[in-house]
Formats: sequence, C-alpha cells, structure tokens
Amino acid sequence: SSPASHASRINKKTASRGAEGSGGAGKAAALFPLRRSICPSGLPDAIGLPDAIGLPDVKKFTESWILKMNKAKRTAVIAGNWKMNMTPSEAKKTVADTAALVAGKDGAKIILCVPFVDIASAQCGAEGSAISIGAQNVHFAEKGAFTGEISASMLKECGVEYVIIGHSERRQYFAETDETVNKRTKAALAAGLKVILCVGEVLEQRQSGITEEILSMQTKLDLAGLTADDLKNVIIAYEPVWAIGTGLTATPEQADEACGIIRSVVAGLYGGAAAEGLTIQYGGSMNEKNAAELLAKENVDGGLIGGASLVPEKFAAIVDAAQA
Ligand code: PEP
Repeated sequence: SSPASHASRINKKTASRGAEGSGGAGKAAALFPLRRSICPSGLPDAIGLPDAIGLPDVKKFTESWILKMNKAKRTAVIAGNWKMNMTPSEAKKTVADTAALVAGKDGAKIILCVPFVDIASAQCGAEGSAISIGAQNVHFAEKGAFTGEISASMLKECGVEYVIIGHSERRQYFAETDETVNKRTKAALAAGLKVILCVGEVLEQRQSGITEEILSMQTKLDLAGLTADDLKNVIIAYEPVWAIGTGLTATPEQADEACGIIRSVVAGLYGGAAAEGLTIQYGGSMNEKNAAELLAKENVDGGLIGGASLVPEKFAAIVDAAQA
C-alpha cells in the first residue's frame, strides 16, 4: 500500500476508537500502552518471533541501573530525514537557509540526510557550517551487479559521515529485513561511516502489548555481530511506525520508556558503559512544538525528524530545543 493509505489506515484506526482517539499526547498513552497489563508467558504465535533470539531480561535492566545512567554524558543529535524531497538546487538553498538559522548552536550535532543526488549540492549549502550531510540508505555489497544501488565506499568518498539504515519506510515498501539491515550496518561501519539505525513497532504490535519484545528483537538482530567499538559509531533511532508522518507523536513518557528499553537491551549485550554512551533518538512527528518535552527525557538523546526538517525555521527550532 502507499504511504498515504498506510497513514490513513492508522488514522482511521485511531479515530475509530471514539472520543479517546481524538488527539493529544496523553490520550495516545492511554490508547497504546507499551506492555500488556498481564505479562504473558510466551509471545503470540501469529507474530512469529523466533525462539532462538534469547531476549534479554529487559525489565531487570530498566528497573535497576538503567535509570541512573547519565544523560549528560551523551551529545544530543538532531538529524533530518528529507526522504524523497528536494531537487539539488532546492537542497542547496534549504541547507544554506538552515545553516544560517542554526549558526553557533553547538549544543547538538546537526545532520541532514538527503537524497543521494542532493549530497553534493547540500554539502555546498552547508559549507562553513556545522551541519553534516548524510544519506538515507546504503547497500551491503562493496560493488557489483546491483542496479540502482549505492555502496558505502561511494558515500564515504562523497564526504558523507552518517547514513540512515532500516528506516520503517525501507522496511515497509522495499522489503528490508533485520537481516539486510544488519548487513548494511556492517558494510557502512566497515567503510568508516556512522549509522543511524532505526527500530520501532507498528501500531498493531503496540496495541497487542508486545512493543518491548519487538524493540528487543530488532535491536538484537540489527546489531548482531557488532562489537562495543562498532557501537561507538552507531546511533539508534526509536521510531514508532504509527507516529511517522501521521502527526501522531509518542508521549514523552512513551518515547522515554521505549528508548530506555533499547538502552537496556544494549546494556545486556555490551555492558553498562556502552549503553550509557549510546545516543538514542526519538523519531515520529517530532516538531518545533513537541521537541522540548521529548528531548528533556532521560533516555531521549535527540531526534530523527522527517517533515519538519524540510522547513528551516521548524528544524532550527528543534535544534534550539536541544541546546539545554
Ligand atoms: C522520519 O522520517 O524518520 C520521521 C520521523 O518522519 P516524520 O517526522 O515526518 O514523522
């Protein structure tokens, strides 16, 4: 289905829940609890989660030492995902306009992930500024017969620093799996790129109360085979699929809890120091109005921003919100 029909499906589902679904972040929390109220002994067969994954004991970590981890040790990262928007000339102007507005705001790392063909012109627009130009995908092979694809070494030579991998639109419309996300991540890191790795549950998973299991599984599968050293070049973006491009934002509490779960899974895999140093962004209809509240949360270290990153004033306001 098209992105528009997906969004309208989500909106219809939300609307069909009557008065409760009529808007507001607090309402969303009531509608979509993270966990089932009664913890099940197993996962529903229909979801088809492999038994062999060996999910870490997430609750143990979240409730004990994760909450004491020091947010101040992490740099805020505000990244824009332009998706399939902007021609090269538009890109140059939009980046230059954004650069003028964020000048001197060095409390956050600022990245704009643009379409491949816009990379060069966006870099021209960013010249002299602290904005880093990133890409939105990368293939896992070094080179070869993969018509239409772009390799990590190509991006590296173009001066790209960050690449988004595993965005839900890639998973949904281009058949990306955790396996290919993992392969792309490894290829990007091997070429010296930094990765913004996206994970997040779909609406049905949140409504079924299995968000925690889904985040654990994706994090574990997507990071499989990476070392703690590799992890220093990885940012994880928690992006609930139901919040992307829908105008429906996770509440700050939902975002914090989900990012905390991801951090606890990483702690289980790599230890506390690696988890404490890991930047975890929230993404999903973040904008100039809701950014400050989301970014203030203990486990939310930045944002991955779609729609609002196309408008310099809105994106700059989000960068402002991350300066605290
Ligand atoms: C995204 O594309 O990663 C995203 C979060 O989009 P939006 O901000 O438009 O929801």
